[in-house]
Amino acid sequence: MRIIIQKFGGTSVASPEVRAMVVGKINQAREQGYTPVVVVSAMGRRGDSYATDTLLDLARASYRGIASRELDHVMYCGEIISAVVMTGVLQAADIDSVMLTGGQAGITTDDNFNNARVMKVDPARIMNFLKMGKVPVVCGFQGVTADGEFTTLGRGGSDTTAAVLGAALGAEVVEIYTDVDGIMTADPRIVPTAKILDIISYNEVAQLAHQGAKVIHPRAVEIAMQKNIPLVVKSTFSDAPGTLITNISKEGPERNAVTDRIATGVTFLPNIVQIKVPLDQDATPMESHKIFRALADGKISVDLINVHPGQVMFTVAEDVAEKAAARLQKLGYSAEARHDCAKVSVVGGGIHEVPGVMANFVEALSLYNIPILQTVDSHTSISVLVKRADVENAVKALHEKFGLAD
Ligand code: ADP
Ligand code: ASP
Ligand code: MG
Repeated sequence: MRIIIQKFGGTSVASPEVRAMVVGKINQAREQGYTPVVVVSAMGRRGDSYATDTLLDLARASYRGIASRELDHVMYCGEIISAVVMTGVLQAADIDSVMLTGGQAGITTDDNFNNARVMKVDPARIMNFLKMGKVPVVCGFQGVTADGEFTTLGRGGSDTTAAVLGAALGAEVVEIYTDVDGIMTADPRIVPTAKILDIISYNEVAQLAHQGAKVIHPRAVEIAMQKNIPLVVKSTFSDAPGTLITNISKEGPERNAVTDRIATGVTFLPNIVQIKVPLDQDATPMESHKIFRALADGKISVDLINVHPGQVMFTVAEDVAEKAAARLQKLGYSAEARHDCAKVSVVGGGIHEVPGVMANFVEALSLYNIPILQTVDSHTSISVLVKRADVENAVKALHEKFGLAD
């Protein structure tokens, strides 16, 4: 059996017209000899009746502090409605199909509500349906704990469902269908001249996703990478070939062109807060340790970390900034918080090997008069912190400077 996972995002299942296109993609896969397993997201985006954000808004309108366990139940509804509708559409097209929740599809998670991790996948039930000739339509983004509690896998987590099912079923390929023709050099909503990348490594795309490119969930990439399953990101609305995400080795001249490119894409994370904690000049390393331990105990992730004599500086996401400040205050530190920041990153497999990259980076931003508040780099990326108001210009400036539009 040549299994293919076909995941359709919210906009790909939002109306009868686009659901008909989904049927076309499933039929195409079957004609090519594949046995498809379909994964669907909730229908549409915020404002559409059964989209995840609409359901969340509805629940939060009752009480802002509604518990994450309860929120998982309301979010569950979106994918269930979508899978039932898609199953109906397939049956109407004479394709024998069956809908399954995440739990029914064998996905067991931990109990970290709203952002659960997949612990185990038992593909037996799906396999039985496949042997019966049915097309399973699995609710994306869902799991169930060993105790039977409903969980979701983090926003954008239907991609993760597709990847874990691909791994458990030994799929030949996992297709992620969305509303763009593939992974692009930047979010086309910000940079209209962004180009489609026809091939990209797991590592680069994981970096792009971690640094804010919402087009695919980073966990999905990591899972596919572990099992070496090719992922293809493509559009439901066109016949474009999409972007192949794979394990690109440094062998062969054409592959080098990909692994050695300095810049592959530009991406950004909005809603970041920069926190500075002044320390005495003669403070011992124990002081910094106390600060980071207190944040870690509060499950607060920190980024862009700089530790100097006299000051510790780092960033956190806006939604945990208050909690971070409270923890620091409890330790007796008076922290200074700069809200409304954003992290802008250039990602590229060959970025670390080339002199002058940082100079180009700084020059691009200076031409737009964008102050850099902090910097950090890794093996495959360079990132800067800027003011939120500057982020769009920063992305455009870097996209141009690194020749990504050519
Ligand atoms: P889906 O509902 O299909 O999962 P998402 O909204 O999660 O769709 O992801 C698709 C969107 O990701 C696109 O509409 C695009 O605006 C955005 N995006 C952000 N960065 C990129 C990028 N580098 N390449 C392509 N799309 C991107
Ligand atoms: N519907 C969920 C979300 O909006 C999961 C997904 O679309 O991947 O986050
Ligand atoms: Mg998505």
